[in-house]
Amino acid sequence: MLPSSMQPLPMLPQAHDPHALMARWRRLAKLAHMKVKVLVELEGEKIFYLESQSKSSAPFYLSAGVHGDEAAAPWGLLRWGEAQVQLLRENHFLIFPCLNPHGLRANTRLDHRGLDLNRRFHLQDDPLCGPWYRVLSSRVPPTLALCLHEDYDAAGSYVYEFESDRAPLGASCLQAAAVHLPVDLRSKIDGRRAKQGIILRSRIPQQLPGLPEAVVLRQLGCPRTLTFETPSECAFIHRVQAHAAFVHSAVERTLADSH
Ligand SMILES: [Zn+2]
Repeated sequence: MLPSSMQPLPMLPQAHDPHALMARWRRLAKLAHMKVKVLVELEGEKIFYLESQSKSSAPFYLSAGVHGDEAAAPWGLLRWGEAQVQLLRENHFLIFPCLNPHGLRANTRLDHRGLDLNRRFHLQDDPLCGPWYRVLSSRVPPTLALCLHEDYDAAGSYVYEFESDRAPLGASCLQAAAVHLPVDLRSKIDGRRAKQGIILRSRIPQQLPGLPEAVVLRQLGCPRTLTFETPSECAFIHRVQAHAAFVHSAVERTLADSH
């Protein structure tokens, strides 16, 4: 396997092609002995997830592509995965490479119905979030959950992290990503108080218009749930590299803590 810095990059016309993305994941799944499963098929587009064959421990949950106009997130997750075949073989991973392929193709935040998926993860009758919820709720809660996003208004990378009884991961993962993109140092990000790029959530927020993926993962019992955001206006390659570095750091730290 080539080191991650030498992996071929997505050509820009491919960045919004979910089939090109999934072709790479399928190849990787074979190498990593993972199963590729269909979560659901919607409007002619299959939505896939990958799962390790050995499920002896709580999984690492990784997801990207909930918002289709945030293309560096799914490609960054793939870039990390292609450099981590052995790690993928040896541990339990549950990976959703692109939950909104229609949005990725159309370069829009919303899905094919014009809805923001990230306000619907609690809805068990939703044709996508329902099957997603059933996959998650029928397994041991993940030991770590990473939800990868981008933000057009960001001045750098930042992270939402839930407080828990485990040591926080956000700061060290942001530092790892800062090799590629600076941290957003504003004291208020997305209307919330932030410190050094970290928006700490002490409890599940009330009065949301609908529940995001990270909140539902937390409700399902995942002790470490982080949402990583890169600034959409920065160069694509740097955003891809920042996502890969963030995932690498979070997984490595969590593995180190469990040994
Ligand atoms: Zn997003």
